[in-house]
Amino acid sequence: MHFFEYKNNELHCEGIPIREISEKVGTPFYLYSYHTLVRHFTVFDDAFKGIPHLVCYSAKSNSNLALLRLFVNLGGGVDIVSGGELYRAVHAGADPQKIVFSGVGKREDEIEYALKMGILMFNVESSQELQTINKVAGRIGKKAPIAIRVNPDIDPKTHPYISTGLKQNKFGIDILRAPMAYRLASQLPNLKVMGIDCHIGSQLIEVEPILQALKRLKGLVETLREEGQDIHYLDLGGGLGITYEDEEPPHPVEYASILLEEIRGFDCKLVLEPGRVIVGNAGVLISKVLYTKENEEKRFVIVDAGMNDLVRPSYYGSYHNILPVKEEKREEMIADVVGPICESSDFLAKGRKLPTLQSGELIAVMSAGAYGFSMSTNYNSRTRVAEVLVRDNQMFVIRKREDYEDLVRGEVIPEFLLP
Ligand SMILES: *Cc1c(COP(=O)(O)O)cnc(C)c1O
Repeated sequence: MHFFEYKNNELHCEGIPIREISEKVGTPFYLYSYHTLVRHFTVFDDAFKGIPHLVCYSAKSNSNLALLRLFVNLGGGVDIVSGGELYRAVHAGADPQKIVFSGVGKREDEIEYALKMGILMFNVESSQELQTINKVAGRIGKKAPIAIRVNPDIDPKTHPYISTGLKQNKFGIDILRAPMAYRLASQLPNLKVMGIDCHIGSQLIEVEPILQALKRLKGLVETLREEGQDIHYLDLGGGLGITYEDEEPPHPVEYASILLEEIRGFDCKLVLEPGRVIVGNAGVLISKVLYTKENEEKRFVIVDAGMNDLVRPSYYGSYHNILPVKEEKREEMIADVVGPICESSDFLAKGRKLPTLQSGELIAVMSAGAYGFSMSTNYNSRTRVAEVLVRDNQMFVIRKREDYEDLVRGEVIPEFLLP
């Protein structure tokens, strides 16, 4: 069952023609299918039901309040990486006892906020961070629940920008130094050791690297338990990949069954932090063709969405499939699909074989639900786009398009510059 489909020669999201939505909200906009989001979360969660587990949706992949709330309603927790994401999670009604706080650079004010909210645990990434959390917890009279993010030095076989579990990456504490960090944690009076954590990378298309990471973590947990440390939670992070072009990542059920086999009977609650696999293929970016032009070498399709709206192609060289919203028989062409931003790296597709596109028509940039809106910016003073959620035959604007006032909010011209 697919929720982005052609019916009567028009691309629909669930029961609504995308053209109708664009007539109401204008372009560009992000569009999410409710039933796809629910299915992706449920399939992932159910895949682990053989053991005690908690799915903490990774807020950074798409942090819209409506999506957070949807996953909260399905029993999900949230993986956050900033005070701002904590604020969003709390606003969306997340249970603080289902929130884990990751990231290498937590500030004291963020730590204090999380302690006051009573989150499940901090995934700590350095010895200095242990000291800081201990200090802040002491100051406000709380005991801080912590896990240590271990860097297992495993090649996740993904894009170097999204690989995180190698020694050369900034993330986590080297697995060989981790026992020392746990000893430090157990000596600090305001910390409570809860578990162990890792996250080796994103867009993983093989299970093997994460299975290797799990094996290394288990070995470490055994050592720690012999030393008398309590390890109740084992957090394997996120990272499961999706199909953008022709990748064949494992299905969540296959992914889960391989991990379950390794962890069953280990007496740890498993925490998972999926992002991309839940939202990536549940969202698309809709844009309008403004102009087309060609020279001796190239054809360009200039659309109204740019790298500020979807940065993945220019940032990671990522592939996103592009479909015309109107389905009709037409000639094919090879073209670059580019945005209005004043940068040569502003493209959505390069040298792509596409049906011949006409000025004024709509395109759908597929698989844009993860790291799409959440990585968007105001570069070139472009207002950030609207986000729409569709459920059956109903559409909901879950973030309105910014206007020019939003663009300058908070900016001040100092008095001395005025006449
Ligand atoms: C980004 C991130 C995730 C989510 O990664 P996906 O590839 O989107 O599943 C999970 N955990 C941590 C710590 C992250 O930084």
